[in-house]
Amino acid sequence: MPLPDCLYCRRDQRLHDVMIPITSLQVFLLDLFKEQTHRGRCLVAYQGHVNKLFELAAPELP
Ligand SMILES: [Zn+2]
Repeated sequence: MPLPDCLYCRRDQRLHDVMIPITSLQVFLLDLFKEQTHRGRCLVAYQGHVNKLFELAAPELP
């Protein structure tokens, strides 16, 4: 369940200030950081909100 204060759940201006959405995968989102000191730095975020990997259902685990 999305959390109201989570940057990745809300995907609001705070996120768009620092990242560029690249694509939406089956259960993950891929965003590229605008700050590219480390070229290609990106983030893969689960489309939902979990605190630990073990909270994911088996089919969603990488
Ligand atoms: Zn979240």
